[in-house]
Amino acid sequence: MAAKYCMECGQPMARRLIDDTERLACTACGFVHWGNYSIGVGALVIRDGKVLLVRRAQEPGKGLWTNPGGYIEQLESIRETIRREVLEEAGKDCLSTSSRSCRLTDMAYSGYNGCIQSRRRGGR
Ligand SMILES: [Zn+2]
Repeated sequence: MAAKYCMECGQPMARRLIDDTERLACTACGFVHWGNYSIGVGALVIRDGKVLLVRRAQEPGKGLWTNPGGYIEQLESIRETIRREVLEEAGKDCLSTSSRSCRLTDMAYSGYNGCIQSRRRGGR
């Protein structure tokens, strides 16, 4: 079922091209409906005993260091998501080598969170 009205301000939603994907977005406040679920992933990119971190560009935690990650697109696999997020946020092409999952229930939000161990593509 598609959202007809914004969940933030109640104004009509319209289809817009966002990040090369057609999505429903609010015509008034810019709220984007990313889908009917929110599965997130976080990548652990390790090289020479060091972990790749990125600085958050948006709230919450804007300016803080974190591991690359984000939400899975509806037609995307977990490995594709990790590769895309690391490339978008750190400019590094990586190859997912294993995955772990956990459910976070003691934080401000609850849900499924996939944690992926990755290495840079090409072994560098
Ligand atoms: Zn709105």
